[in-house]
Amino acid sequence: MAQKRDYYEILSVSRTSSAEEIKKNYRKLAMQYHPDRNPGDVKAEEAFKECAEAYAVLSDAEKRAQYDQFGHSLGGRGFQGFEGFEDAFRGFGDVFGDIFEDFIGGGGRGGRSRTRRGADLEIGVALTFEDVLHGKEKQLEIPRHETCGECKGSGAKPGSKKAVCNECRGQGEVRISQGFFTMRRTCHACRGEGEKIEKPCAVCHGAKRVRQTRKIKVKLPPGVDNGMRLKMTGEGEAGENGGPRGDLYILMQVEPHELFERKDENLYCEVLVPYTAAVLGGEIKVPTLTSEASLKIPHGTPAGKILKIKGEGLPVLSRENLRGDLFVRIEIDIPAKVHDEERKLLEQYAKLRGNKIQLRKKGFFEHLKESF
Ligand SMILES: [Zn+2]
Ligand SMILES: [Zn+2]
Repeated sequence: MAQKRDYYEILSVSRTSSAEEIKKNYRKLAMQYHPDRNPGDVKAEEAFKECAEAYAVLSDAEKRAQYDQFGHSLGGRGFQGFEGFEDAFRGFGDVFGDIFEDFIGGGGRGGRSRTRRGADLEIGVALTFEDVLHGKEKQLEIPRHETCGECKGSGAKPGSKKAVCNECRGQGEVRISQGFFTMRRTCHACRGEGEKIEKPCAVCHGAKRVRQTRKIKVKLPPGVDNGMRLKMTGEGEAGENGGPRGDLYILMQVEPHELFERKDENLYCEVLVPYTAAVLGGEIKVPTLTSEASLKIPHGTPAGKILKIKGEGLPVLSRENLRGDLFVRIEIDIPAKVHDEERKLLEQYAKLRGNKIQLRKKGFFEHLKESF
């Protein structure tokens, strides 16, 4: 290892300098030699590392005391631990983070032509049960940002030049020191671009993107459910400075049906059947999504019984020709009024039947459970 320079010398401070002074000088030097400021300059990079190492020791009271006593030759170990530079940086990255972050992260943070991915968009699409059954082609109109065609996304009037922002000197951000912390904020003058447009594009006025309504035809497959999101890759907002587009999410908003309820691919409805049909059995017509179906009621069907009509549910998503079932819950239609003739017959029947009640062996709730 080459002869190491004195840490105090590196930071241009004296042995009696205060921690505050050391910090101030270090910050100044770190800015001066920062790799972002000196791209490709090996000497600057070396100087930057040297300063960081010196500061890592002198900013730590304990290490500084050891260094004052033993110099670089601390028991053969010295302070060489800092040769693993990135580790040393990471160690106090949270305190002094931002400056080192650039360095460790390989830069690319400085303003200028920073690519930015476009934002994702979401659009809701209202669908009926019938749409879910057959699938639906929809024409969507999506207001979104497109790269300005006039300036090809540069924001500058074609043929005009751009100048380095002098507020942030092209860095795109401004560093603010507050106590021991350094924070940074996006440069307001150039909005983080690091450069300023001298003559803005006449169409986008320097915004690089323009708002347009994009028409997209989408084919929504049969079987989609409420709340599902369909992703269309690359159909979101345009990116900036050559960044990729965001994605578009189409949110399925399936409207409730007046007759049917849905759970996954199955449909549920309730019908009122005449008392006689429940007792004697018979065939009834039940509405389906498309028309109607016949349903056989076995004799002695109790209220609450659920009968199944196979294949009259909704399609199973991405399973061609596979449909769920329609479940029909039978309720008994007790007429509030009866005609004279009906009354006579019922009274006759009642005489035969009597008014005896029967007790059910099962509990109320258990029975309820069973009917599902
Ligand atoms: Zn700026
Ligand atoms: Zn433009």
